[in-house]
Amino acid sequence: MTKYVFVTGGVVSSVGKGVTAAAIGKLLKERGIKVSIQKLDPYINVDPGTMNPYQHGEVYVLDDGSETDLDLGHYERFIDDNLSGVCNITTGQIYSSVIAQERKGTFLGGTIQVVPHITSEIKRRIDRVPQETGAEVVIVEVGGTVGDIESLPFLEALRQMRYELGREDTLYVHVTWLPYIGATGELKTKPTQHSVRELRSIGLHPDVIIARSDHPVGEDLRAKIALFCDVEQKGVIPLESTPVLYEVPLLLEAHALGDYLLQKLNLKARRKPDWKEWRAMVAAWRTRRPKVRIAVVGKYIELEDAYMSVREAVRHASLAADLDAEFSWIHSVDLEEGAGWDELRAAHGVIVPGGFGDRGIEGMIAAARYARQEQVPYLGLCLGMQVMVIECARSVLDNKEANSTEFDPKTPHAVIDLLPSQREIGELGGTMRLGLYPCEIKPGTVSAQAYGRKRVEERHRHRFELNNAYREVLEGHGMRFSGLSPDGKLVEIAEIAEHAFMLGSQFHPEFRSRPIRPHPLFVAFIKAAAQRAEANNEKSTATLGEEPE
Ligand code: GLN
Repeated sequence: MTKYVFVTGGVVSSVGKGVTAAAIGKLLKERGIKVSIQKLDPYINVDPGTMNPYQHGEVYVLDDGSETDLDLGHYERFIDDNLSGVCNITTGQIYSSVIAQERKGTFLGGTIQVVPHITSEIKRRIDRVPQETGAEVVIVEVGGTVGDIESLPFLEALRQMRYELGREDTLYVHVTWLPYIGATGELKTKPTQHSVRELRSIGLHPDVIIARSDHPVGEDLRAKIALFCDVEQKGVIPLESTPVLYEVPLLLEAHALGDYLLQKLNLKARRKPDWKEWRAMVAAWRTRRPKVRIAVVGKYIELEDAYMSVREAVRHASLAADLDAEFSWIHSVDLEEGAGWDELRAAHGVIVPGGFGDRGIEGMIAAARYARQEQVPYLGLCLGMQVMVIECARSVLDNKEANSTEFDPKTPHAVIDLLPSQREIGELGGTMRLGLYPCEIKPGTVSAQAYGRKRVEERHRHRFELNNAYREVLEGHGMRFSGLSPDGKLVEIAEIAEHAFMLGSQFHPEFRSRPIRPHPLFVAFIKAAAQRAEANNEKSTATLGEEPE
């Protein structure tokens, strides 16, 4: 018998509902309960794969190749599990499947309606999570904020599920925000009351309210929220903002949310939570560590969410190396216009993350050239690897026109190109090379040293590949292909041989990094950057020493 925890959001968006859902998963997992987490996204796209990162932030890719919401990244990082495509559903998926059934004649004679047809399809998709994962408790997060028109069918489906399954098997958690009024120095509960009223008007009565705020929430406020919203005081959980995302489960645990959830769901813990390792990780995060400056050169940098997993992977790796990563987000278009170079030069390591389209590519190529010539550690992620190859090829072939056919279809040297299988594809949605693929690591390379393994599996999301016609010439001029597909046909990792650390992967290692298990390539990159930071320090101390009195 599966139990469900439904997580909704109220008052405003972006208060950390996804992290809260992930943290609840962690609370339960620590008690020996098998959990899974699902996100219901109210937009009509089938998946976020076709959305601009400015609209949606990062597209998070799962092992099975599903392109999902970035909250799934939080879920995986917190519960340390690999989720599957059933864990993210969208209105687009629901409607396309109901309409396909209607065309087949499944509902012959019937009028297809939001209730019951759409809501039944939503419930069927929620049910697939325990079926596929064997989870005892499924946490279901509803995207958006209560009151949005789009999320109504989802909320109605959740209401029906409580009616069908009963109170012991369903639990509603509502995440709200307490605004702070500076003039009077108080936190306000009114918006929370309104949002709970809105929720009740559609038949959902919260069992738990997570009260997010930027200030401490006292017992008096807890009591007030409990009284006005008709929730037990134990069920009103304050959650003050923290700069360390991974502290959230500990903050919830401190207010006994884990035990309260079990009590409400009538579940017994299988083991006592053991927070030792997690607590140590959070404590380490909070201690002062030597800084290492990492420049991320991308074109969606106005929105940090666009590189969420990259940011987290850098943080995990820095923590493991006992360092504190300080980010410079540099717009690649700025580099083309001569701006941002001081920041780039000040960095100890450069990352060029994934991306699509030709805007800003020349700026990324310039950053790669700078990194190669100046021996600055460089990590290229997917597009970042392609950029590194293009840069190297331009120098090797002495031809400025070497390029990827994605950016210049007429280039005389298509060092990055489509595979024939990709050329025949007309549709854009879900047709890239997606998900987990094996990669064999060549001994004696930087990759081999970082991974310490002969074969790895990594997540992909791209259409273009290194053109094998250029392998030999590149290899003859200092490039090394240290990771190949097992059949040897696809280059998965490229390195510059005579360099402290210049490596690009055709896959996205950032999707497999976890706070307690940082990704080996990120760790190796951060260590190389740390060496540069140290060398710079020594250099500047030496210059200071030489200064005349
Ligand atoms: N645009 C490139 C491709 O499709 C890179 C994709 C990416 O960085 N995820 O191959």
